[in-house]
Amino acid sequence: MPARLHVDLSAVLSNARTIAERSGARLIPMVKADAYGMGVGPVVRALEALNPYAYGVATVREGEEIRALGTQRPVIVFTPLLEGELPAAHAAGLTPSLGSVAAIRKWQSLGGPWQFSIDTGMARAGAPWREVAGLKDAVAQSPPEGVFTHFHSAELDDGSMEEQSRRFADAVETLGLADLIKHTDNSAAVLRRGRSGHDAVRPGLFLYGGAVPGAAVEPAPVAQLRAPVTDLRRCEPGDTVSYGATLTAKRAMRVATIAAGYADGYPRNVGLEGRPGGFVIIRGRRVPIVGRVTMDMIMIDVTEIDCDLGDVVTLVGRDGAELITVAEVGASGGISPYEVLVGLNSRAERLYHEG
Ligand SMILES: *Cc1c(COP(=O)(O)O)cnc(C)c1O
Repeated sequence: MPARLHVDLSAVLSNARTIAERSGARLIPMVKADAYGMGVGPVVRALEALNPYAYGVATVREGEEIRALGTQRPVIVFTPLLEGELPAAHAAGLTPSLGSVAAIRKWQSLGGPWQFSIDTGMARAGAPWREVAGLKDAVAQSPPEGVFTHFHSAELDDGSMEEQSRRFADAVETLGLADLIKHTDNSAAVLRRGRSGHDAVRPGLFLYGGAVPGAAVEPAPVAQLRAPVTDLRRCEPGDTVSYGATLTAKRAMRVATIAAGYADGYPRNVGLEGRPGGFVIIRGRRVPIVGRVTMDMIMIDVTEIDCDLGDVVTLVGRDGAELITVAEVGASGGISPYEVLVGLNSRAERLYHEG
């Protein structure tokens, strides 16, 4: 029994309901990057029950994958597309995000819904908010279905979200179009301020169990990475563990090897360079990882645990009263919870659970 990633679709739904209730807005679930590594097919099929306004992706190919699932809802591509990609987006019935006169005119020649992307402080995509007046004529020819911007620091209380919101409101007023669906909020924005006053919100991280720092509401855990103990040994004082021999036993220890490693998406740098050490759960108890995470195996200290070969170890997720969140694993590995989730989309077989 190799490493397995268990994905709890009921938890995705419950997190999506939390976002819908807090925001009072329609959902545009962000399902890019294979639904943050959780598997876009099962995730979209589950989310359909919540009647989302649209789905959000990053590439034409991701959009085509969602169309192949059969949903008729808008599928918005949020990364700017090159003009040469627009015909494929059109053929797949996708909704591009546009922010330049050239791209808008090209799309208008194909005909189809689109979203107007406004940059209010990320310099990443969309029309700069101060230049929106110059796009008014092109936009008026066939107006977008919606208009949006993206916050660079929605998780911080530094006033930047408010400033970006003001720039967005100015730009929308300049456009002078009624009946546009407006959306600005990612997970952190929804959790920090609740109602945005806009029509739709674009949650990603929270849906998949990624907590927003400082938010009062925790997501239900979605991902569980589990793998069995496949080796057990005694180490004597002075024995070394794993690559680089970064750990030398100071006392007699019992060490278990788990059949999962960074090829299964567990961060390789856990516990290194002064980061908080990584933990796993075995028999309902937390135990520390010892030595470096390797590609296929991880060693843990089970000196105090009565365990056997074949015992199932939880690297991410809940076991009994203990919980290891993606945020905790990210902090131990020096990466963001986004990277932890996306990284889980690797060798470990995915299994889906509902309820
Ligand atoms: C990825 C993305 C989101 C989702 O952000 P989270 O922090 O994961 O909630 C929202 N909007 C855009 C434009 C994005 O690219």
